Amino acid sequence: MSDSPPQLPTALIHHPYKPPAGFEAIPPAIHRASTVIFPSVAALRTRDWQHKTGYTYGLHGTPTTFLLEERVATLEGGKFCTLVPSGLAAVVLVGMAFLKAGDELLIPDNAYGPNKAFANGELAAWGITHRFYDPMKPADLAAKLSAKTRLVWLEAPGSITLEFPDLPALVAVVKTHQNVHPQGIVTALDNTWGAGIAFNAFDLGADISAHALTKYPSGGADVLMGSVVTRQKELHHLIHFCHMRVGYGVAGNDAELVLRGLNTIALRYAAQDSATRAVARFIQGQPEVAAVLHPALPGSPGHEVWKRDCTAAACLFSVVFKPELAQAQVDRFCDALKLFKLGYSWAGPMSLCAPYDIAVLRTTPWPYKGGLVRFSVGLEAAEDLQADLAQALAAMHYS
Ligand SMILES: *Cc1c(COP(=O)(O)O)cnc(C)c1O
Repeated sequence: MSDSPPQLPTALIHHPYKPPAGFEAIPPAIHRASTVIFPSVAALRTRDWQHKTGYTYGLHGTPTTFLLEERVATLEGGKFCTLVPSGLAAVVLVGMAFLKAGDELLIPDNAYGPNKAFANGELAAWGITHRFYDPMKPADLAAKLSAKTRLVWLEAPGSITLEFPDLPALVAVVKTHQNVHPQGIVTALDNTWGAGIAFNAFDLGADISAHALTKYPSGGADVLMGSVVTRQKELHHLIHFCHMRVGYGVAGNDAELVLRGLNTIALRYAAQDSATRAVARFIQGQPEVAAVLHPALPGSPGHEVWKRDCTAAACLFSVVFKPELAQAQVDRFCDALKLFKLGYSWAGPMSLCAPYDIAVLRTTPWPYKGGLVRFSVGLEAAEDLQADLAQALAAMHYS
């Protein structure tokens, strides 16, 4: 064997873990606890709550959640990880850790919808303002940075519409404005799509990665969890201390499901990637379709940047139908699908779809008039999925 470090699939499986003496099993032990008993008053007083050098209370971590934190940090190429009960909680934790009244945050116009809703709701109520920027135009981000900007969200690609932004260019714009806010500007990437596999968030310049472990790391559509990862100790401490104050603990059984999913994440990501490209190319050629949005398809927004920065693509694509097809026909198409079920979330075993009205979701211009449906490809055979799309396209035309 050479001395080169193992590749990610190997590193996730051969990850440091010390089983109980004499019990060298492959899966790690699962610990559940609220109380952690201290041997003495002196131990209780001196146990370090702040730096995770010991166990204090179940809410703040167990051997199981600490292990999962280490593996998620490995997955993403980061150093420090904090687990939270959902992907949305990861987004919210970043906001709460870094923003205070008077600050402003910038959010890509095509960002995950609940990220925008949190800014419009709680953050606005707490005196924190926000603006949306066009992630495909670094100059638009530059124009919107101000002395109040403390946090800039990035997302690659955009939720639903899947435009792939030039992350290094956006980060470079932020770096040139670093000294305006007294505490500097933090960049946080919603890394759910790349999942630590398609690209390395930190090598592309992000300070923080928020990840819905609900999606690929779980892979089972059976658990909700999120993570916040960084390479920078000072940022991690701000995240971790906020996490301690707000009580965002995760359960041992949930951590077990994600630990189990991580063993197969690289295989699943690759399999779903190739099935998604096959199915997306198939529907791209159909007469009802105006556009297929998927960063690996030439002509899709940001395709060239995706090619430069990524080694893979996730299991999502969106179809924009021709404007002469009424929304009722698009709805009929969705209702006619048998294998693609109607529902939210993605990256689980079952293929899913959902219609979206993009015009109401964004402030930047949207070039299409026809209905949009976003698809998530699961682990079924691509040929079966293709046949399902074909029969549903035919059903659009019956009345
Ligand atoms: C699903 C998702 C989230 C939120 O994850 P939950 O675990 O469902 O809260 C955040 N960002 C993106 C891009 C997502 O797809």
